[in-house]
Amino acid sequence: MNESAEYVLSACREHDVKFIRLWFTDIVGTLKSFAITVEELEKALEEGMGFDGSSIEGFARIDESDMVARPDPSTFQLVPWRPKEASVARMFCDITYPGGEPFEGDPRYVLKRQLKRAADLGYTFYVSPEMEYFYFKSETEPVPLDRGGYFDQMSDAGSDLRRETVLTLEAMGIEVEYSHHEVAPSQHEITLRYTDALTMADAAMTYRLVVKEIAAANGVYATFMPKPIEGVNGSGMHVHQSLFKGERNAFFDENDPYHLSAVAKGYIAGLLYHARAITLVTNQWVNSYKRLLPGFEAPVYLSWARRNRSDLIRIPEYKPGKEIHTRIEYRSPDAACNPYLAFAVMLAAGLDGIENERPLPPPVEENVFEMTPAERAARGIEMLPGSLIEAIEVAEKSSFLREALGDHVFESLIANKRIEWERYRRHVTDFELREYLPIL
Ligand code: GLU
Ligand code: MG
Ligand code: MG
Repeated sequence: MNESAEYVLSACREHDVKFIRLWFTDIVGTLKSFAITVEELEKALEEGMGFDGSSIEGFARIDESDMVARPDPSTFQLVPWRPKEASVARMFCDITYPGGEPFEGDPRYVLKRQLKRAADLGYTFYVSPEMEYFYFKSETEPVPLDRGGYFDQMSDAGSDLRRETVLTLEAMGIEVEYSHHEVAPSQHEITLRYTDALTMADAAMTYRLVVKEIAAANGVYATFMPKPIEGVNGSGMHVHQSLFKGERNAFFDENDPYHLSAVAKGYIAGLLYHARAITLVTNQWVNSYKRLLPGFEAPVYLSWARRNRSDLIRIPEYKPGKEIHTRIEYRSPDAACNPYLAFAVMLAAGLDGIENERPLPPPVEENVFEMTPAERAARGIEMLPGSLIEAIEVAEKSSFLREALGDHVFESLIANKRIEWERYRRHVTDFELREYLPIL
């Protein structure tokens, strides 16, 4: 038994842990879990725990349903909202075949594969997501709890819920940088302090659960739905990202006017080049495309700039010229994505830009939304896909995306999303009834 397994066993004794929840994620980013009792733990740490993967979205092929969940002891944490006696802990798992080979349908594995590629080039990939969400009175109707706006200092239910959420995240080893009221009524954001991308993908999954658990414990509902209310901002997940080589930030160049190195520029160029193809992953729902509209601080056009918040990629300069803070912010993802797959495809796109020395188009510091279509065309500024079906069709043609996700996830995701689009297409909406019934 290795040291980390020993640590898990002794922590369980110390905290009277009775149940260990084994966590993993399906392809659309739903957290899956089963509990084992502490008596099973030693075996689970040594051999993993078998389960039937056939009903899990994007998992087993028809002939292979026996899977093994292998807990990663470095992710051991107590679950603070469960009882203190006979308490509950959790560990994230890697999913393998019974023989021990990694299962290609496991999103954590997809991310690990891209992180290995980065590591082979000498890079560590750091990310910090800004995950936005709404509190509503219930899950059946988007009724806000408050009328607040951006950074409003309010003494209200939302602030208390946020406080409890931040404290719970910190109790689970997740460091929080900021938390504040967002632009829309009842919309909030908690920004996590940057970590390596695998730690952060696990943290993002935990974050979504904690936000929802704390809300539910207080009789309200929290949602990461990208655009729950027409006419106000949706919920995004801007992702700040950088590559480090050891202690050095490989994105930093003191002498560049933007303080960006050739590596950073290649990375941005790669992201812009593949942005349309990876949108199916970063914005995976029918509803995601209701957020990507002009006028709500969400991106629509493929451009980058230093200050401009209408661009897809922004270079934050809160502390200009400081190596540690040099990073890029990719603004299209929404908080309802699968964070493992989203981090994996963004990294793959950036690395592709670096390796193929893709040329970086000039920055667009003007407001892209205010340009005419002809002006945008003249500057070669393209658009993100405007709907789920467009995103599917672009993704399907991308050999880059197939490579980045692996055949299994690529094919399962496209099949899953085609079904969603078909269901949506059949549905007669309120809009149609309101617009057409009185006149046609
Ligand atoms: N809610 C906006 C979005 O949909 C982002 C607002 C912000 O800049 O924080 O991306
Ligand atoms: Mg925000
Ligand atoms: Mg931001």
